[in-house]
Amino acid sequence: MAESLSCTCVITGGGPAGVMAGFLLARAGVDVIVLEKHADFFRDFRGDTIHPSTTNVLAELGLLEEFLALPHSQLAYAEGEFGDERFRLGDFTHLPARCRGIVMMPQWDFLNFLASQGKRHPGFRLMMATEATGLLRSGERVTGVTAKTAAGEIKITADLVIGADGRHSTLRDAAGLQVTELGAPMDVLWFRLTPQPNDQHAALGRFADGQGLVMLDRGDYWQCALIIRKGTAEAVKAEGLAAFRARVARLAKRASADEIASLDDVKLLTVAVNRLTDWCRPGLLFIGDAAHAMSPIGGVGINLALQDAIAAANILAEPLRRKSVSLDDLRRVQKRRHFPTWATQKMQVAIQNNVIDPMLASGKTPQVPRIIRLAQRWTWLQRIPARIIGMGVRPEHVRTPVLGAG
Ligand SMILES: Cc1cc2nc3c(=O)[nH]c(=O)nc-3n(C[C@H](O)[C@H](O)[C@H](O)COP(=O)(O)OP(=O)(O)OC[C@H]3O[C@@H](n4cnc5c(N)ncnc54)[C@H](O)[C@@H]3O)c2cc1C
Repeated sequence: MAESLSCTCVITGGGPAGVMAGFLLARAGVDVIVLEKHADFFRDFRGDTIHPSTTNVLAELGLLEEFLALPHSQLAYAEGEFGDERFRLGDFTHLPARCRGIVMMPQWDFLNFLASQGKRHPGFRLMMATEATGLLRSGERVTGVTAKTAAGEIKITADLVIGADGRHSTLRDAAGLQVTELGAPMDVLWFRLTPQPNDQHAALGRFADGQGLVMLDRGDYWQCALIIRKGTAEAVKAEGLAAFRARVARLAKRASADEIASLDDVKLLTVAVNRLTDWCRPGLLFIGDAAHAMSPIGGVGINLALQDAIAAANILAEPLRRKSVSLDDLRRVQKRRHFPTWATQKMQVAIQNNVIDPMLASGKTPQVPRIIRLAQRWTWLQRIPARIIGMGVRPEHVRTPVLGAG
């Protein structure tokens, strides 16, 4: 017979959304179980951009110094090269933030950090290597989840299930919720390059001859993203390692990219931009990528997932403590987070359609938008994109009290 557990809130998925929600709810005195299907957080690169909206929250939690003591690098500017011309696109140094730049930290370090903070509260329980497989129901209401562990199946009953199991969410399928696809013209290939002596430290996008390469300075290496036409990853890889190295070297303006030892080191991100119409059902709420997959433009996915978690904890901690969480409470979370999601995706899709798609289709170097030229003279204009990316739309603040002993 399946083992049974019970708690006030079970969260499926130990990504940024799930671990942050678990930590904040436990900190607010709620009894939480977070399920993560993998045995550890140390997996493929999944995006490492921690924006000022997030570092502000860590400062509110009194954790910023401890967080910044972990190995990281910091990017103060975003720059772009169109053919041979270089421009500053964003200046993060004027943001209303304690950390005026994008902190680059491996996601597994960040998740370990958040999980260690969660474990300081008695209500926090993280079950690794435990995969949610389905929903438990009583009539219309979701009352828990079934899950698979090495020791067999378990059932976890809870007043609320939070689905934070990412953009291929099992629970979203189980709940039969409708996903609206907004589409994306591109996929992205991720890999690393070694720094060269004259490299300038920044987040840099290079656009030439119908191709785009984004390079993020990570101190001892560059995290690089080659933008390719949707669905062409296999064709790009089929051209072979030498052709790939030559393509990268040309775009990165290097003599060679021979440090890419194998195409196995090149990881595909199949870009999806979508969102749920309804984020909740009685007893069930989705947050993070499970509610909305973001385009990689702006590197906002992690930060939006974290913001959802903060909003969910702010709104739900009290009704969860009272054990009376209603569908209206869950709808308040969706209402709070729908606009930032909608607005961010709207901007991402506009850039995809007006810049990336024409560039990939034409094979030409894109024209430099006039506003970018203007921003080189009126440098304050560079603060606007930095603000939109760095602070996001409707940044959240921690409103939950510390009730779970820290
Ligand atoms: C290659 C790549 C590069 C990216 N680059 C960036 C970037 O530079 N900046 C940025 O902001 N975003 C980036 N992203 C997106 C970013 O990683 C996501 O937006 C963010 O991680 C979403 O957080 P989440 O917690 O909602 O979901 P995820 O991070 O997807 O976490 C979901 C978790 O749930 C677990 N899980 C899944 N199913 C189950 C189940 N049934 N039971 C239990 N656990 C389950 C998964 O193992 C995972 O740990 C990138 C993504 C990829 C793949």
